[in-house]
Amino acid sequence: MSRTATKTDTSGGQVHPIVICLPPIEFEGKTIKAKSGFYKCPFSCGDSRFPARKWKSESGFRKHLTECPQRPEGVKAREEREAIQCAETDKKRDAAFAELTHKIGDIIFFVWEVVTKPTHEQRGNRLVHVRYEAEKRFDARQAVIESINYDGAVYFNYGIRIGQLCGTIEEARTLAQSRQKSYDDHVEFSSRCR
Ligand SMILES: [Zn+2]
Repeated sequence: MSRTATKTDTSGGQVHPIVICLPPIEFEGKTIKAKSGFYKCPFSCGDSRFPARKWKSESGFRKHLTECPQRPEGVKAREEREAIQCAETDKKRDAAFAELTHKIGDIIFFVWEVVTKPTHEQRGNRLVHVRYEAEKRFDARQAVIESINYDGAVYFNYGIRIGQLCGTIEEARTLAQSRQKSYDDHVEFSSRCR
């Protein structure tokens, strides 16, 4: 509860021991009492692998309480914000699904980008930069919709986006060829610029 400290008495030039009393603090439904001259945060905000932080002054401890990431009011506000965000995401997803014309079992055509040689390769435990531009292949693909998912936008199966879809496999082939050419041209152009 109390801590002994020394202070210089300027009038007489002598050193007198004085006792600093730390009062109990009421905060968001908790009464925190100092122990052995220190306050400790009651909201277990610290990293449990390290010794708990201690505060020697009332003002410093009060400041921490208002900033503590685990203070009850703060946690409550954070949870409410998250609940609102979840509800908004649900609403957006429902709206996106409602206007979707595709369904499970439909056949879709699209261009899929495959990195055949990345810019970095693993050598032992090191990631080594091996080429300036990744080598890529653009494939025209066809698939059956097995799942419809949402991560901010709708995608099918393993990650096929609506924007990637083509009307027919021929369309997908033509698009794959033109994207391949654009990419190869870009790689060729960049290599000439180096
Ligand atoms: Zn805390």
